[in-house]
Amino acid sequence: MQLQLATWPEVEAYLARSSGIIVPIGSFEQHGPTGLIGTDAICAEVIAARAGAEADILVGPTFNVGVAQHHMAFPGSMTLRPATFVAVIRDWVNSLAQHGFEKIYFLNGHGGNIATLNSAFAELNADVSLGGHGINQQRVIPDCVQQSWWLLPGIYDLCKQLYPQGHGGHATPSEVAVTQFAYPDHIKHVPLEPETAPSGRFTHAAQYREKFPDGRIGSNPALATPEDGERLVAAAVKALIADFRHFLNS
Ligand SMILES: [Zn+2]
Repeated sequence: MQLQLATWPEVEAYLARSSGIIVPIGSFEQHGPTGLIGTDAICAEVIAARAGAEADILVGPTFNVGVAQHHMAFPGSMTLRPATFVAVIRDWVNSLAQHGFEKIYFLNGHGGNIATLNSAFAELNADVSLGGHGINQQRVIPDCVQQSWWLLPGIYDLCKQLYPQGHGGHATPSEVAVTQFAYPDHIKHVPLEPETAPSGRFTHAAQYREKFPDGRIGSNPALATPEDGERLVAAAVKALIADFRHFLNS
C-alpha cells in the first residue's frame, strides 16, 4: 500500500496491525548522457512499491532530492545541503512517529545520502537522549534504519554477475537497467566515449565535472537492458521484504 494513495482510515487500520513503514529515498542528479536525472529516486521507489504491494507494507512518499552538491555542474541536478537534509528528515520522521510509526526503514538509492542520513538518525536519537524538544514528547520513539537497495543481500553479487566489467560507481548499468524496466519509453541511446568512464575521487561540483566530463564514474551504462532491470527489481523486492521483516522483529 502506498501512503499517497491511502485514506486516513486505511492508515489507521494499517497501524492497528503494523507500526512499520518503508520510505524510499533517492537523489535528483545527472546520471551521464543516457541515465535519467531521477534514477536514484526511481530505483528506490520502484523496488519499495513492489515490495509494499506484495507483502502488505505501507510505503511512504519518495524523498527524491538528496545530497548531491557534487553533481551541480550538470544541468538539471538539484541538491539539499547536508544540514537542510538532516532537518527535513527529522521532520519527516517526527511526522510519522506522531501517528504511531515506530519502525521507519529508508530504502536508499544514492550513496551520497548515506553519511547524512546517519547524521539525521543521530540527531533524532540525541533528541531522545538529551530530553529536549522533539521525539520524547511524542507517544512513539522511532527506530530508523537505512539500506541501500544494491547492498540488500545478494544484489551486489547479481550486479557483478550481470556486469563483470563496466559496473563502476555512478550511472551504473544496474541502476540504469532498473529505470529502463520501470520507464521503457524513456530509454536513451547515445554514443559513450570512452566506453567505460574514468574512476577516481571527487570533492566539489567543478572538480567533478573536470574529472568526469560526461558525468559517469567507472561505468558503461550501454550494457544495461530492461530485462536486467526486471531481474534486479525481482531480486531486490524479495530481499527487501525479508530485510524489512527482520527489522520489524529486531
Ligand atoms: Zn545513481
